Amino acid sequence: MAIFERVENGAPRRHYVVKSPVTLEPIGEFDAGSAADVQGAVERARKAQAAWAQLPFARRAEFLWRLVDVIVERQDEIVECVIAETGKPHNEAVSMEVMAPCMQISYYAKRAAGFLKTRKRRPTGMLRFSKKIELHYQPLGVVGLITPWNGPVALLANPLAQALMAGNAVVHKPSEVTPLSAVLFQDLTRAAGFPEDLYQVVQGDGETGAALIEAGVDKVSFTGSVATGRRVGEACGRLLIPCTLELGGKDAMIVCADADLDRAADGAVRGSCFNTGHYCCGTERVYVPEAVYEPFVDKVVALTKELKQSDVGDSDVGAVFWDKQMDIIESHMEDAKRKGARVLAGGRRNPELPGYFYEPTVVVDVDHEMELMRQETFGPIVAIQKVKDEAEALALANDSELGLSGNVWTRDLEKGAALGAQMETGSVSVNDIAVTYGVAEAPFGGVKASGVGQVNGELGIRGYCHLHPVIIDTGKSSHGGYPYTIEASRGMQGFVRRIFGNRFLRKLLV
Ligand code: NAD
Repeated sequence: MAIFERVENGAPRRHYVVKSPVTLEPIGEFDAGSAADVQGAVERARKAQAAWAQLPFARRAEFLWRLVDVIVERQDEIVECVIAETGKPHNEAVSMEVMAPCMQISYYAKRAAGFLKTRKRRPTGMLRFSKKIELHYQPLGVVGLITPWNGPVALLANPLAQALMAGNAVVHKPSEVTPLSAVLFQDLTRAAGFPEDLYQVVQGDGETGAALIEAGVDKVSFTGSVATGRRVGEACGRLLIPCTLELGGKDAMIVCADADLDRAADGAVRGSCFNTGHYCCGTERVYVPEAVYEPFVDKVVALTKELKQSDVGDSDVGAVFWDKQMDIIESHMEDAKRKGARVLAGGRRNPELPGYFYEPTVVVDVDHEMELMRQETFGPIVAIQKVKDEAEALALANDSELGLSGNVWTRDLEKGAALGAQMETGSVSVNDIAVTYGVAEAPFGGVKASGVGQVNGELGIRGYCHLHPVIIDTGKSSHGGYPYTIEASRGMQGFVRRIFGNRFLRKLLV
């Protein structure tokens, strides 16, 4: 049984049926957009963008504020749609897919004008006497947005708000696993009065996503797996289109011997089980020094056993969103058990529930020979490895091809920050699960194979622009061009000797 199934219906486009991971019943269907469909969408978006880019920030923001009004009014529809598609608990559907988008959209509606206003500068050196610089943040044009299934609304609303406030139009290819919420979101933008074709959704699979990149877009904002990210990066490189690649992670948690163990245990369980573990910055590996290993593990097991799992909205840990992820979780756990790991809680599909539910799990005696500690598992699993000390924990945390985020737990905040700074990751949290994506002021993005580029906040929204310097000659300098003479060139040499041959003057000039 698959969660989205290709069905031959004789029509020219690939046709898919989407099923709920909770009931395994069909909840919708869609045709995958063809190359011609995405091409048409990009052309229409380009026309819409030309008018949109002329609007002042305040007018663009007005559309976004209206979108927030509509989201607030129709939040139950979003929650219902996301729960049907993903089987996530009501609480996570609200926090991640309603509240986070409201915050993200509001943030850029309020601040884009400040982030992107034209800056005036004076050049340094001799040029300061003759030139002025204006730095204009120009929109790029049409952004191709390709998103995954684990946060279908949050991971669309955030880049969308940034791209639009920067003056771009967006053509969006949502995940084939969660196609329905994107269509609903497009409907919300229409209800908010967005100009026709400014934000378009083209549903489809990987082939549709690949076609979108080839369809003449000016930037690709991609969030998804490492394997697909490589393909997207290659295509963008060939086409010379800028892209950001927000990819997978294998986040480590380091528990120091002086940590508040109650808080750390709670953090391990939340960090691993939030969103059924389908969180790019989810805690996938926990390293604990032997001095506090036993009490820590006991606390984690007790908390995990208390978690409710059911097929109704008030559960703590929801469904695995689709069959392929269930296969990965099960195969990593089987590999770990074969190699000597011990399961202290969960460790199997929930036999009480018909859908795709994996029990919240605690597993110990794990090591880096196991897939569970090396590849992204994306399941509700707390995997705990005993280490000698913090130095060994850090070395193991950095022993990964991935480097998205990580977290350190200690009562000594200075030590926590210092240890965190040594983690080879895009970001780090101290005494909290990975929260960087939710803190707009903190640039978000992975190192190593976890991504290329950083998103969010001032830096992120500027990534949806070309910074266009306009250099204005104020007409105060004498003309210095042709014809060349040896005297003039000797004069330049004398200048180089006098100014750059003198340590004081060279610093004064630049
Ligand atoms: P995926 O790579 O399978 O798919 C992502 C999107 O790319 C989908 O819309 C898919 O249809 C499309 N796609 C597939 N092949 C394509 C191609 N050749 N060209 C263009 N588009 C193509 O990823 P997924 O399974 O949907 O998402 C889960 C992954 O996303 C996990 O690895 C997770 O860690 C990662 N993720 C990362 C972040 C982050 O911000 N770093 C956030 C959320 C999820």
